[in-house]
Amino acid sequence: MTRTLADVAAEAADCTKCKLAEGRTQVVFGVGNADADVMFIGEAPGFHEDKQGEPFVGAAGQLLDRMIHEVLHLTRDDVYVGNVIKCRPPGNRDPQEDEIESCTPWLVEQVSLIQPRVIVTLGNFATKFVLQTAQGITRMRGHTYPWHGRTVIPTFHPAAILRGGGETSRQFLDLRDDFELVRETLADLDREPEPEVVVVLEAEPASEEQLELF
Ligand code: URA
Repeated sequence: MTRTLADVAAEAADCTKCKLAEGRTQVVFGVGNADADVMFIGEAPGFHEDKQGEPFVGAAGQLLDRMIHEVLHLTRDDVYVGNVIKCRPPGNRDPQEDEIESCTPWLVEQVSLIQPRVIVTLGNFATKFVLQTAQGITRMRGHTYPWHGRTVIPTFHPAAILRGGGETSRQFLDLRDDFELVRETLADLDREPEPEVVVVLEAEPASEEQLELF
């Protein structure tokens, strides 16, 4: 029987594949529509996300929700929101190589099951990871990238906008522009027929082919 996203989330809830399992309150798997056209990918849960079990629930999450609402005319229930890393790194430090490697199969399964047409990577970490690039977000944002039959659109991490001057900053305008690009890309895709399923991935354990996605 095919695994559903809920099956995968239930399995991930007990994950002990890396040392982040020791310090977490809970696994923050992701939320939203299991059939979403748009998937947002951030870095890793922070303090509040770890406590509440949902990605982007703090101030950065409010800014994300606002962009989803004001520019895409959607809600969090219409899209899917997740992170590369599903457990909070202690003190919000950067995720380490072994943690990224252990966590990747969960993200691969999410993408395979949701089959989003557009993936929005939030910030440097998610963008570099998904697109396997060394280029920073300032260079990458503002463009679309074909990725395994989908479109990736990188933008600034909302937390970076809040740290860097909020609504009066240049980056805030860029963030809005990037969301406009998401809206236009979705509208263009609506005019085209749905593509054949391009990436068919199998359930765990992750094969070499799966891991080659990232
Ligand atoms: N920052 C992220 O990258 N993800 C979250 O879920 C919260 C903050």
